[in-house]
Amino acid sequence: MLEWDMVPERCSIMIKGRICNMPPSHIVSIFSDNEEYMIGLVCNDHISLMESKTATMQNSGKINKGKIRFQKIKPVMTDCVLNQNNIDKAGNCV
Ligand SMILES: [Zn+2]
Repeated sequence: MLEWDMVPERCSIMIKGRICNMPPSHIVSIFSDNEEYMIGLVCNDHISLMESKTATMQNSGKINKGKIRFQKIKPVMTDCVLNQNNIDKAGNCV
């Protein structure tokens, strides 16, 4: 399970200097050496763009190489995180 310090409310993609205002649908993370860390959030429309941007950053050494992973954000999960509640094994807010 991924840990995060903050929950950005928007897609991380920036196009021509403008940040995408769509609500994020997936967490983007890099998985390498048994460690996983979040690099951003992305909306439905920008998943493939995020994938190619991430690959470019990996190739230029800006971020670690590793497998790019997209995890769907559950609305309940976002609410739980924002409200600092916990999620049980079934994925419900407790
Ligand atoms: Zn977007």
